[in-house]
Amino acid sequence: MTVQLPLERSALASSDDSLGSHEIAPDLAYLRAVLVNVVFHGPRNAGDRGWVLIDAGVPGSADAIRQAAEKRFGAGARPAAIIQTHGHFDHVGALETLSREWDAPVYAHALELPYLSGKVDYPPPDAAADGGIMARLSPLFPRSPIDVSERLHALPDDCSVPFMPGWSWLHTPGHTLGHISLWRSSDRSMIVGDAFITTGQESAYEVAVQALEMHGPPRYFTPNWQAAAGSVRLLAGHRPQLVVTGHGRAVAGPAMLTALQQLADGFETIAPPQHLRRSA
Ligand SMILES: [Zn+2]
Ligand SMILES: [Zn+2]
Repeated sequence: MTVQLPLERSALASSDDSLGSHEIAPDLAYLRAVLVNVVFHGPRNAGDRGWVLIDAGVPGSADAIRQAAEKRFGAGARPAAIIQTHGHFDHVGALETLSREWDAPVYAHALELPYLSGKVDYPPPDAAADGGIMARLSPLFPRSPIDVSERLHALPDDCSVPFMPGWSWLHTPGHTLGHISLWRSSDRSMIVGDAFITTGQESAYEVAVQALEMHGPPRYFTPNWQAAAGSVRLLAGHRPQLVVTGHGRAVAGPAMLTALQQLADGFETIAPPQHLRRSA
C-alpha cells in the first residue's frame, strides 16, 4: 500500500502552474522542469557574479538554465558559484558545461566530493523500490561520477555558504553521504535538494502528473533510510516557512509545515520503499 501525505494547493509557494522560472522570494527563484528543479539565489538584475546557482539539472539542460539565468540576472551574467545539494545525475547534468563556460567554482559537502571529481560511483539504485517504471528503469540511470575537480571546493567548515550571506548549510545525509540542505533563519527559507520532495518520483505517472505530496527522498536512490529519517527530523525541527525541493513544487506556510512534521513523525512507515518499510 502506498502511504501518502497529500498537500493542499494552499501550500504552494507560487500558484503559477506552468513549467519555467518562478520567483518565490525577492532573492529566490527556481526553474521548474519536468524532472528536477534548479534554484537561483540573487535579486533580479543581479548582474555578473551577483548570484548563485544551486544544482545543475538533468543532462541536456544547460541551455534552459542559462536562458532562465540571463532572463533573471541580465545578459551574460555568470554566477559567483554553483552549490550542489548532492551529485546525482539529475542534479549535475549541466554542471561540467556550465561551470567551465562560466568559470564558476563548485561547492559541495566534503563527503560528496569523490562523486564530483571522477573518483567514485554511487551505489546501485534499489530497483525493487515500489515497482514503478522509474524504479525499474533506475539501474539504467547514469551513476558514473562527473569530473569538475578543477573548480571543486568543499563547503566551509563553519557551515557558511559562499556568496550567500545569511545562509548556512546543514548536513542532511541518507539520500547520499554528503547531501546538504541550505537554511536562512531570517525568513525561515530552506533549499533541501532530495532530503525530502513534494511529489512522487517512483513511477512515470507520478513524474508526469507531479501531484502535490509531502514525500520522503526518491525511493530507488536512497541507500541509508535511518540517516534519511534523521535528516528529515532535523529539517522539520527548524520549522521552515518556505521550502524548495529538488523535485516537485516549492511549498510554504502552515499546511506545508504540518505535512512536513507528519513526515518526520511517521518517517519509517511512510518514506522507505514498501519492502523496507516498518508497518504502522
Ligand atoms: Zn538525488
Ligand atoms: Zn533528484
